[in-house]
Amino acid sequence: MEIALQGIGVSPGIAMGPAVTFGLHSLEIPEYEITDTDAELKRFEQAVEAVRQDLRRLKERMAREAGERNAAIFDAHLMVLEDVVLREDLEQRLVSEQYNVEYILNDLIERQGKIMESVEDPTFRERMQDILDVGKRVLGKLLHTELESLEHLDHPSIIVAQDLSPSDTAKIDLANAKGIITDMSGPTSHTAILARAFAIPTVVGLKTACTYVHPGDTIILDGVKGDVVIRPTQDTIDKYLAAQRDEERRRQALLCIEETSAPARTTDGHEIDLLANVELPVEVTPDLASKCGGVGLYRTEYLFLDRTSLPTEEEQYQAYSKAAETLGDRPVILRTLDLGGDKFASHLQLAEELNPQLGWRAIRFCLERPDIFKAQLRAMLRASVRGNVSIMFPLISGVDELLRVKAVVKEVCADLERRSVPFRRNIQMGSMIEVPSAVAVADHLAQECDFFSIGTNDLIQYSLAVDRVNEKIAHLYEPAHPAILRMIKHTVKAAKRAGIPCGICGEMAGDPVFTEVLMGLGLSSLSMSSIAIPEVRAEVENTSLEDARKLADSVMEMHSVKEIRQFMQEHHEAQRTIETCLERYAAQSSSTENVGME
Ligand code: PEP
Ligand code: MG
Repeated sequence: MEIALQGIGVSPGIAMGPAVTFGLHSLEIPEYEITDTDAELKRFEQAVEAVRQDLRRLKERMAREAGERNAAIFDAHLMVLEDVVLREDLEQRLVSEQYNVEYILNDLIERQGKIMESVEDPTFRERMQDILDVGKRVLGKLLHTELESLEHLDHPSIIVAQDLSPSDTAKIDLANAKGIITDMSGPTSHTAILARAFAIPTVVGLKTACTYVHPGDTIILDGVKGDVVIRPTQDTIDKYLAAQRDEERRRQALLCIEETSAPARTTDGHEIDLLANVELPVEVTPDLASKCGGVGLYRTEYLFLDRTSLPTEEEQYQAYSKAAETLGDRPVILRTLDLGGDKFASHLQLAEELNPQLGWRAIRFCLERPDIFKAQLRAMLRASVRGNVSIMFPLISGVDELLRVKAVVKEVCADLERRSVPFRRNIQMGSMIEVPSAVAVADHLAQECDFFSIGTNDLIQYSLAVDRVNEKIAHLYEPAHPAILRMIKHTVKAAKRAGIPCGICGEMAGDPVFTEVLMGLGLSSLSMSSIAIPEVRAEVENTSLEDARKLADSVMEMHSVKEIRQFMQEHHEAQRTIETCLERYAAQSSSTENVGME
């Protein structure tokens, strides 16, 4: 039977195809009767021993790279491995039920998971989570598969998962991944951001899709509206095929917006820089350079994910230099490492935290790990002579933190100087404004840096107290909240007073519904996923700064999110930007056809 679900559309496009399921829950667990209980127990012991070896290795590496304190998590896991109760349960059931060990172990894990869902006590939950993690490791060994990978898909598919980590997504088989749907996650999770960067239509936050989907089921998804249909009827398929054709016309219409690296110009002649956000080094190509005014946010953490050791200074230098050279004299803003939150480097094996978004993240991590931070700064400073490089610091919460960061930069510069390594001495250094306290002291911060870039993804999360990756509260994650608009206005004002530029690089910058308001609030540059640039360019070029200011003034008078949303949506529709492009495209196509006929 056809099942329709509603989630959050995070990467545009309509996709259709067979499902491949990702993650342990989707593994086929073999189920068969056995006669030799001892042989099954032996297989179990061998798998346990293999996991024991893995955990010891991981513990040693962790202790080496992140200190003994962080390595303690593996002690907990090693203790679980020796848990007599779990082993006794397994043994008893093997003897009484006479089924294969994978089947019984998987059943024990599932039961454990169900109990955990109903338990409130955090200590007990933590212990149960450890048991689940270790159980899954052992199961992985028994099935001879640690983890599925999305690196190689056999055919064009829609990926279905409970959740995808940014590192799962970074590895995805781009040729065959036609779409992604997940039960978890929110609109500005880094998985959503990567999916947009790869232009893979994606819907997240579906909550229950995994319970309905079987591998091979046909799935349709609309990455704008957030609609997903599982096992669609022929009528539904026809409806979406028609929608796909409309979408293609829309895409063609956007092609008539000139691809240029020049700033977008409003109808009254003001310029707005349209910059690109870059996640992966491979995204930096001459093609990217031809359609953006520079890179407004280079998320360097992706160089650190999905590998077995830290990237060397040289490796980082090569990646940053390539970006600087590809963009020529246009700006490339390299952001220092923002690990933590929802991005984890598996080789660092950091201890899990109860509130990772409020925890040991970004600049806090770098200031505690000067070895990693300084190597990155050296690489950035060395790359600064290869183009127009600036450095930006994430998650700055106040002046003291920024001063500590600047002191580290100074040390690194002195070291390069001493060794006569060339670097740009007057390199521009900026602060991300993404923590509410930074907004409050924006005037002070502006005295200490050369530019601001507002990170609305985190600013919304921290100001509205809404975890950006939690689908249960995704409806509360609202860029149109008056508090957010006020914070943007306040930050822009502080930057203007201090005479420094202020841009925005959160996902809000790439949403055409907000383009005019952001211009009206005084932002001079918008940095976004490169696929969003043409539509945002069309919006800028379809309005005047004067009107944008009036619009922003009206919106700032409003008290309610609902009112602001509705007002902006209606205004956006009334602007008819895409329709105007479509008309232009139709006119252009007919004149080309006429030329062809002559
Ligand atoms: C932001 O928080 O808005 C931002 C651009 O940084 P990230 O999404 O990488 O946290
Ligand atoms: Mg951020």
